[in-house]
Parts: sequence; structure tokens; C-alpha cells
Amino acid sequence: MRRLKHSGIYWCLNCNVPLLDSECEICRVKGEFVPLSRPVDPKPAFRFDLNLLHQTISQEFGVDAANFLLKNVEVAVFNRVPYLDKGYEVLVDGRILGHLFFDFPRLYWRFKPLREGCSRLWVKKLGFWVVVNNGFVAKNQILGELDFLEKNLPEKEGGYVFLVSKKDEVLGVGELTDKGKVYVLRVWKPEQPRFLNFKASWNQVVKANFSKLKTDISKACKFIGDISSRLKLPVFVSYSGGKDSLTTLYLTVKASCKTKILFNDTGLELPETLENADWVASKFGVEILKVKAEEAFWIHLKDFGPPTRENRWCSKVCKLKPTAKFLDEKIGENKILCFVGQRKAESFRRAGSRKIWVNKFLPKIVASSPINDWSMLQVWLCLMMERLDGYVNKLYFEGFDRIGCFMCPSMEMADLLVVKKRYPILWERWEKELENWILNKNLPRQWIDYGLWRWKNPPKRILDKIGG
Ligand SMILES: [Zn+2]
Repeated sequence: MRRLKHSGIYWCLNCNVPLLDSECEICRVKGEFVPLSRPVDPKPAFRFDLNLLHQTISQEFGVDAANFLLKNVEVAVFNRVPYLDKGYEVLVDGRILGHLFFDFPRLYWRFKPLREGCSRLWVKKLGFWVVVNNGFVAKNQILGELDFLEKNLPEKEGGYVFLVSKKDEVLGVGELTDKGKVYVLRVWKPEQPRFLNFKASWNQVVKANFSKLKTDISKACKFIGDISSRLKLPVFVSYSGGKDSLTTLYLTVKASCKTKILFNDTGLELPETLENADWVASKFGVEILKVKAEEAFWIHLKDFGPPTRENRWCSKVCKLKPTAKFLDEKIGENKILCFVGQRKAESFRRAGSRKIWVNKFLPKIVASSPINDWSMLQVWLCLMMERLDGYVNKLYFEGFDRIGCFMCPSMEMADLLVVKKRYPILWERWEKELENWILNKNLPRQWIDYGLWRWKNPPKRILDKIGG
């Protein structure tokens, strides 16, 4: 049971809302289980995300298709799914409509409809499709002219085409090849589309999960209270400007724990994050102590070259070193208890991490995460329920899932290109450094344009795509 719980979520078909537990607290009915890709860490689709989805579907299949697929959709959930760049499973009406992903190497957003999406489109004969002669199609099969009874193919190579049987069943999805054939990407057991046909709201979602949220908040507060009274150390909340650390700060203050904020300004923060840290500190009435890396990154960049996923020297230079120095100066020989908003669902790497630990590089910090077991959806619902939306870093409502350095090597091209567009001056400084670096190393321009600098050894699957 526990295994299942972690590989999907429940959806109430009466109320059209996602559930953190199996039962809906509005109608008291058990929700339907929706399996999701691992690591399961779904987030609410915000207005920005829904607009991006609508726009992408419109470009792919026309505006009528976008309107029809997203009819009455107010509550949708995005779950990250592995692609070469950023990708999401899109959940509406308790079904996976398709995948919204940033195409690499084309470098624009695309939408691949899956069973629910294709079945919906076929209702109105929207999008692109072929009716196949043979009732049996298989993955990786290549279908040509002779296999089609009827067709409506896209103009461009790579366009998605769904496959329909003579019996009117939607069997799978493929893509158009350069030779005008259809390469079958996925097949499935046909299913009627589901239109729940009523708009839920995020307020309803909070109601449907209300006591679960309240219980987990109380548990987290008790946990914070217990540890801090047991350890009797000065308490800090490590605040990053992100939603997880905001939740942690809220819980710590709610637990009546006397705390200060520790904010690590890496020198690479986006302006919204710097603003948010000050705003949140003043609103919570909590003193904020800033650990500043100043120009450390840019100084070391000359020697080390861009930080990579394999070698994140930036973390030592911009986070660990300045924090160690700060602790030596301000705390001396003592230790501190630091609550952090770390969640094990965030990545496989962190899966199973403990609730209390001593930082290997910063032995003066006893760290603890009161939200270790929470999902991203739970964090967002907690922030909505406790009316903390106004405290949230606004970058989240403009397409960012994570808040951090503006050019982190762990970022996807989708996000880096948003940063480039939104913060041209910031980006120019970075790109100049990259240009000098590729010149010195005699590397092609692709290392900048496709973000190959993010790896010491770019993966083969990436290189193959750009013919590098
Ligand atoms: Zn319900």
C-alpha cells in the first residue's frame, strides 16, 4: 500500500480535486488512484502554467483543440517526467492528458497528447490522426500510406498523430517522419475520454484535504518544538526564498519557536528572491542574518570554469565557505539548530534522507527538516490554506519550479532561456564569461547555445541530438 501511495495520487471524481490521502474530505468518497511517473512530486498548475499549456497546444493542434482539451479546467496538476529537458505529465479530471515538455534540441515547448488527450481530440476530430486498416498497431512500428484508411496529417515532421481503429477506438500516438510516415511512439488499451464537466477551485482542493493538512501541520510544529527544547540551541531557519523554506519558517514561527532567518546570498540570486527574503522577514517580524558570498563566484570562475553537474564547486565557494566564516564570527564555538525546507521527494538522491543530521561541511549546524515527508502538492496546499500566497516568491507564478542561483548547472534549458530573456543584463555577464571560456578551450558555440557547459562530460543522449 505504501509503495502505491508513493507512485501516484488520488483524485476525487465527485469533486474533481486531487487528494493527498485516498478519501475526499468533502464528499467522503474514495478517490481514484492515478499512477504517476517517479519521483512523484506533483505541483498545482498556476495561471502561468495553464496559459503555457494552452498556448503550446494551440501551436501544436490549433486553438480549437486547446479550448476543447482544457474546457472547464481550473484545477490541473503537473508532475515532472524525464525528458531531455524540462517535462511534465499534465493531469486534468483525474487523467493524464499528455506531456508538456521543452523540446531538445528544438528549444521550444511542445505538447504530446496521450490516451486521454488523443481520445478527447478524436471526439471532435481535432488535431492530427490516421484511421488504420489493421486493428493492431505496435510501438516502434512505422505506418505508411497503405496502412491508412483516412488521414489528417500535420505539415511538419515530428508532429504528433494519433491512431484510430476502424471501430473508432483511439489506439495510440505516433509522430510524422521526414518521409511522411507515422512512427508509433505509444500504444494503449482504448478508453472513452472523461469530461468531468465542472470547474473545481483550489479552495475546494484545500477543503478536500483539510484535516490531513491540519494534522500534518500540527505534527510538524510538535516536531519543531520537541527538537528545539531537547537540543536547547539557538534556532535558525535557513531561508532560500523558496516555497519549502517559507513553509518551514511558517511552521517554526507557528511552533512558537524563537528563531532568526539565515539567508545565504550567493551573489547569484534573482532580484525577486532578494526582495522576497527581506519582505518575508519583515512580515514575520523575524530578524534576518545574511551570509553574503559577494563576488566569490566570479573570482573563482576564472580558474575553475563554469560549475557543472559533476563538479558544483560553486556550492563550496558561494554557500559553505561564507557560511562557515559567518558562523565562526557570529556563533564562535557554539552550535546552532537550523530548520531547513528539504524534502525527500525532491530527488532520488535525497530519498530517504533523515529528519535530523549534522552537516558534514558545517559541523556547527545541526540541521533538521520538518517537511521531509511532504510532497510539493502538500507544501502548496499548506501555503494556500494558511493564506501565505502573498509571501510566496512571485517567480513561482511565472514558470519557475525552483528558486536558486540564476544559472545553476542543474537547471534545464527551458528555465535558463527564461532567465536570459527576463534578465538580459544579468545574463550578458554570464554569457561573456562562457564565450571567453569556450574560446580558451576551443569549444564550439553549441556549448553555450545548448547549455553543454552544464556538464563536464555531456551525456551521449544530449550530444546525439545536436550531432555534437
Ligand atoms: Zn469529493
